[in-house]
Amino acid sequence: MQRTDIDGVPVFTADGPARTTAALVFGVGLRDETFATIEVTHLVEHLAMGALPKSHLRCNAVTDVDTTTFHATGRPEAVGAFLEGICRALADLPTERMELEVGVLQAENCSTAHSTLGALWAARFGLTGPGLVVADGPGPEYLTEETVRAHARRWFVRGNAALWCTGPLPAGLRLPLPAGPRPERTVPAPRPQTGPVWTKGHGAGVGLLLSAGRAGDPALTMGVEVLKERLRDTARLARGLSYSVDSMALDVTADRREVAVVLDAREGQEAAVAGLLWQAYTELCASGPTTAELAHAVAGFEEELDADERAVVESELADAAYCAVSGLPFRPVQDVLEAWRTTPAERVAAALRGTSPTAILYVPEETDYAGPGGPVERRFVCNLQARLPVGETFRPSALARLFSRENSRVALVVGERELAHRDSDGDVHSIPWELVEAALPTQDGRAVFVVGRNLCSAVVDEERFGRRAVAAVQARVPTARWLPRPRTAGDDLVGAASPAAGTAGRP
Ligand SMILES: [Zn+2]
Repeated sequence: MQRTDIDGVPVFTADGPARTTAALVFGVGLRDETFATIEVTHLVEHLAMGALPKSHLRCNAVTDVDTTTFHATGRPEAVGAFLEGICRALADLPTERMELEVGVLQAENCSTAHSTLGALWAARFGLTGPGLVVADGPGPEYLTEETVRAHARRWFVRGNAALWCTGPLPAGLRLPLPAGPRPERTVPAPRPQTGPVWTKGHGAGVGLLLSAGRAGDPALTMGVEVLKERLRDTARLARGLSYSVDSMALDVTADRREVAVVLDAREGQEAAVAGLLWQAYTELCASGPTTAELAHAVAGFEEELDADERAVVESELADAAYCAVSGLPFRPVQDVLEAWRTTPAERVAAALRGTSPTAILYVPEETDYAGPGGPVERRFVCNLQARLPVGETFRPSALARLFSRENSRVALVVGERELAHRDSDGDVHSIPWELVEAALPTQDGRAVFVVGRNLCSAVVDEERFGRRAVAAVQARVPTARWLPRPRTAGDDLVGAASPAAGTAGRP
């Protein structure tokens, strides 16, 4: 692998076939948005791609939680023109196409793909950073041209970009991105936790989320590999409860990594799969892996490196580019393999045990599951309370209560410190005023949907609680948190954005 610089962008290259494959990576993704600006990165990506002239080049772009990548494969000069075109478009976004691309995003609606991961991250971070994956947001039609341009100006700059390339580097390649440093990412604060917890949410699978230290330490990665192997043996092979076992590491900072293990579960088997997952994890924490299991994990790694040389080269280049934009130290894959070979079982067990106070076990909402027992406490996804706080209380009219059982329990409290809402199940959701993330007025202004960073939400509507309730909430919510009305007449706002069960997720 060679490293050069083009127009101030680090470029990682390796020899390859006559055709060129290149990817331009930016250190920005969903985790860098807010509830109000969800999809803004994706919209920038679409606007840049849409600015390119029609061609037959094989090219695409992807926005994920952590990065945004533009890639292409083809004749070197065509790939070069693609990369230069993307840079020019990012420097001056064709926002006249916004209306059109917003429509495309609404149709695409790909935010449900990571549901189990999103639910795990939300249980850790609430409605910030990676936790935003759980929410759909108000929708791209709420994004203003100024918001979109400001996002591009801040994140799609030279200092936050890296390129990797196999095959011939396009002759005379230019990467004319605007100058700018790598922006400081907001580090999401985890919810306080002193021991393992279990939680329910709206993702379909079963999962386990663990916090760890530096990415460079192979011990936890190896432990997770052994855990996955044990789950394949029990959940999949022996009992046919589950088809896939996967893991994903997300580096929140250079010193903190979130490792998720995610399983699908056959319908009705979620509780059994969760039980197996927790059992396998705690057994590994207690006794560590066997020598044979570690050897098997190392052999699996070696085989992967042998199987497809091109894939290994490309994934190593992509890793180098990713590390460059994330500020993480890069380690060549051969060094990582060497570290795996020399990591003893005791270190793997210790690394797993170290994650125990941060463990979050997750099952889908409708699962009939009472948790693993012992010291593992239930964590509610949002800020559920036992009773309504003190404050000005609003209830549906006596007539409305008479005609609907649901209405009889519902209440809204506008308090000194918080907004609280008792739903028809009798659950009390509370949003301290300083945790209000966004307030979305409906088209007619007769209701407002209030979303908290703690994942509680409330619909305050005139029809149910009266005009004074809406006014009282309006008076308390900081002006900066009010979203502008959408540019185009959207669907019924409350219906579209209102989450189920008081969380800001998709039902
Ligand atoms: Zn709540």
